Amino acid sequence: MGKDKLVIEKPLYDRLPIAKPMVGVAGKTGLWRVEKPVVNNSKCTRCFLCEIYCPVNVIRVEPETGVEIDYDYCKGCGICADVCPVNAIEMKPE
Ligand code: SF4
Ligand code: SF4
Repeated sequence: MGKDKLVIEKPLYDRLPIAKPMVGVAGKTGLWRVEKPVVNNSKCTRCFLCEIYCPVNVIRVEPETGVEIDYDYCKGCGICADVCPVNAIEMKPE
């Protein structure tokens, strides 16, 4: 008797229950920000730490292009800049 083949129809990432930021009663919460994280993608090593630690899940690290931040929802907490091991993210006043 042959074994059944495991068929995965969608990539694992698409099937994980990952929360996405969206407009709530407070609107787009990026308006709360007083400092903005600015990324130097030429310094970025694509280590993914900023994406993992961002408390509102607004960072995507793309292997080809680098870090993308959704400024509609980034609150400017500065955690991404703190955890970046190569100082590729700098907090700047709005
Ligand atoms: S400043 Fe805070 S909310 Fe904005 S991208 Fe960095 S970790 Fe996320
Ligand atoms: S933590 Fe720094 S080096 Fe790592 S992916 Fe983010 S910006 Fe790039």
